[in-house]
Order: sequence, then structure tokens, then C-alpha cells
Amino acid sequence: MSEYIAEVMDQVKERNPDEPEFHQAVKEVLESLEPVFEKDPKYKEAGILERIVEPERQIIFRVPWVDDEGNVQVNRGFRVEFNSALGPYKGGLRFHPTVNVGLIKFLGFEQIFKNALTGRPIGGGKGGSDFNPKGKSDGEIMRFCQSFMTELYRHIGPDTDVPAGDIGVGGREIGYLFGQYKKIVNAFEAGVLTGKGLDWGGSLVRTEATGYGLTYMAEEMLKDQNDSLEGKRVVISGSGNVAIYATEKVQELGGKVVALSDSDGYVYDPEGIDLEAVKQIKEVERGRIKEYAEGRSEVEFCPESFDIWDVECDVALPCATQNELDGESAQTLVDNGVMLVGEGANMPSTPEAIKIFKENDVLFAPGKAANAGGVATSAIEMTQNSMRESWSFDRVDETLNDIMVDIYDVSQEKAAEYGKEGDLIAGANIAGFLKVADAMLDQGVV
Ligand code: GLU
Repeated sequence: MSEYIAEVMDQVKERNPDEPEFHQAVKEVLESLEPVFEKDPKYKEAGILERIVEPERQIIFRVPWVDDEGNVQVNRGFRVEFNSALGPYKGGLRFHPTVNVGLIKFLGFEQIFKNALTGRPIGGGKGGSDFNPKGKSDGEIMRFCQSFMTELYRHIGPDTDVPAGDIGVGGREIGYLFGQYKKIVNAFEAGVLTGKGLDWGGSLVRTEATGYGLTYMAEEMLKDQNDSLEGKRVVISGSGNVAIYATEKVQELGGKVVALSDSDGYVYDPEGIDLEAVKQIKEVERGRIKEYAEGRSEVEFCPESFDIWDVECDVALPCATQNELDGESAQTLVDNGVMLVGEGANMPSTPEAIKIFKENDVLFAPGKAANAGGVATSAIEMTQNSMRESWSFDRVDETLNDIMVDIYDVSQEKAAEYGKEGDLIAGANIAGFLKVADAMLDQGVV
């Protein structure tokens, strides 16, 4: 690390104590920007780095709600509006008990570069709450979402900040959030949220987009090696929206997905996962992945979700959460012959894991590039909302595929240009950074 970059990193740690995920995310980006700062002094002169690591605005608010027993509950809500150089702040809302300001800052920071990579005019932001949706009734979820929006509405808008889903926030929650926003502002501003229902401004493919996009990128990377997903054994962690639709697309392209997980553990099905059964459990019944093993003698359930990486595979797609794949798991994957790792979640691999993949020449697609399909399709949803149009499934899907291929190409290109041939982490970070940094230069010190 150069002295200048190390200085900025120290400042980040000092200003944001006890935020390990944010430090990890910033360090990864800053490290790969070294060749950019060596080549061109203009970014340093304009203080781009010092500005880009500081969110433009951070909002923390109280979210009171009444549970089914009539007790008052209080949660904390967050929205970090990180960077608006390219467009309105854009990024999901996460409802999970681990949410705190540092976690949202890490996700918001990643979002800046991911969104830039999509080539769409969207800035970076993220939000959420430490509310735990697990085990809550539909009524409780609705009342929580309404209370959350009663504060959030004043900070967002179709040209200001456009939230969407993330862990714990899906179509149901977006519906309740949108209903409350509409009631407060007394206007049908479809473009204020993405991931909406198809009858009221949502886009086809948005639900599938992150998983499909991840798979398109993996297929593109294998194509470059004269290979494909056909016949590959694939392990996918998670069983939420990203994992389910990655499974669907991998299966469509002829791959065999043998394991899925949730926080209770993982299931291993040597015959290949029956996706319809998983959808019934997770999407319809809102159940747990272990139910998939019930009545299936060939399926094993293991109660340690992190051990999913012990399952032998050619392709590993971590689609659960941050730091779910550590150095030890990476070594096991390498020993078992993994050839490609694609990150469907945000920052699922630890720095130690990434080091091991690099040392062993595993093809590696970092989350910022590989999971950008979700937010890219959100941007396509915004486009449709502005035009008051609904595009066909194929039109959105083809646009998504093109965006994923473009992200892969531009990341490869920038990696090569800055002496990091084949390093998609560096390539994606540099390509995303340059877009945002150049826009910031154009717009002056703001
Ligand atoms: N939460 C998703 C992400 O991490 C999607 C965000 C969006 O669609 O705005 O990129």
C-alpha cells in the first residue's frame, strides 16, 4: 500500500471505529486503486479518495411498532446516502438483527462501485434495520414497514434516493413500504422504490435478476476458457432470492446444483436439487431449508451452514451473506478442485479466502461485478417507471445479460490496462472508481 493510500485508510479507521466490515470493504477497494493513483495525480489533487470514503449523508432513526401481543417494540432504522455523483442514491434495505451503521456503510460503499459498473445513472446508498423478520406475523411485518417508512419517506424520492430489497426485504415488504409512502406523499411515484409488484410498476426479471446475472457472468468467464456450466457440479450457499434464481439459471444451462443452505444448515442432494420443492418451502411457506430433507432419503441435512464448502464442486457460488467463506473453506474448495467462485452475496469471501483463490488460479468474480444484475435490473425498472411502460421478460433479460457481459469485459479491460491482467477484483474496483471519480471531478468539490 502506498503511503498516501495507507494514510486515507488510517483516517477511515479513526473516524469509523468498531466498523470492521466497512474497514474491510474500503481496504479492498483502496488497495486495488494503487496503480490509478500512480498513473494520474489529478484524483489525489482533488481529494477524491478522502471524499469517496465519507458518506454524503447518514440517517439513523427510531422505528417504534406494536407487536401482536400489544407490546411496543423499538428498532433502529438506517439509510446511508453514500454517493450521488452518477445519479440518485440507489441500494437495498436489509432487515436483519446484525444490522448496524458500520454494516450499512460497508454495503453502501460497495454499492457505489457496483452501481457504476452497471453503466446506469445511479449513485450508491444502503439502508435497513436491526429488526428481525424471522417468526414475525404478516401483520407485524406490515406495521414495522409502515413505521419505518413514516420516517424514511422524507429522505427518499424517485430523483433523490431509491431503495429496494436486500436480506429480509422482498416483494411483500416493498409492497407495504410503497403503500405507506404513497399514502403519505399522496402521489403514485412508482420510481421511489424498486422490486415492486408486477401489477403496480414492478419489472419482469427483477426477482430473478441477481441470480440470473451471477450465472450469466459465470458462464461468460467459462466461455473464455472454452468451457461452460454444462455438466458442472455447483454448490450455492443461501436459499433466498439470489440462491434460488442462480440455481434456476445454472440448471437451465445444464449444471447440477447439489447443495443449498440457510442459517440453520445446508442440504446436500447428490441427485441435484429439486428447485420447485425449494421454491415451495422458501417462497410460499416461508420455511427452512432443512424441510427439503424431510421424506427424501438421498438428501443429507448438516446443521453447520459454513460447512457447505466441504461439498465437492467445480463451481462455488456464495449467495448467503458477508464473510461466509473463510480461508479454511477456500482451501477445502481448492483441494477439492474448484475452478470458479462467483460472489452472489456482498463480500462473502474473507480476504484470506480471496488470497487462496488467487494463489491457486481459481477464476474469481467479485460481488461488485457478479451480483450487479439485481441493481442493474432495478435501474431498468426505474427506466420503465419514467417511461410509464412495461417491458417484456425477454427484453429485460437480454438487457441484463448484455450488462453482465459488459461488466465482465470492462473489468477485464481495466485490469489489463493497469497491469493486473486477469484480476477481476482489481478490474471491477478500478472501472467502477474511474466512472465515479471522473463525475466527481466534473462536479467540483461538493
Ligand atoms: N440489494 C441489492 C444489492 O445488493 C439490490 C439493490 C437495488 O436493487 O437497489 O445490490
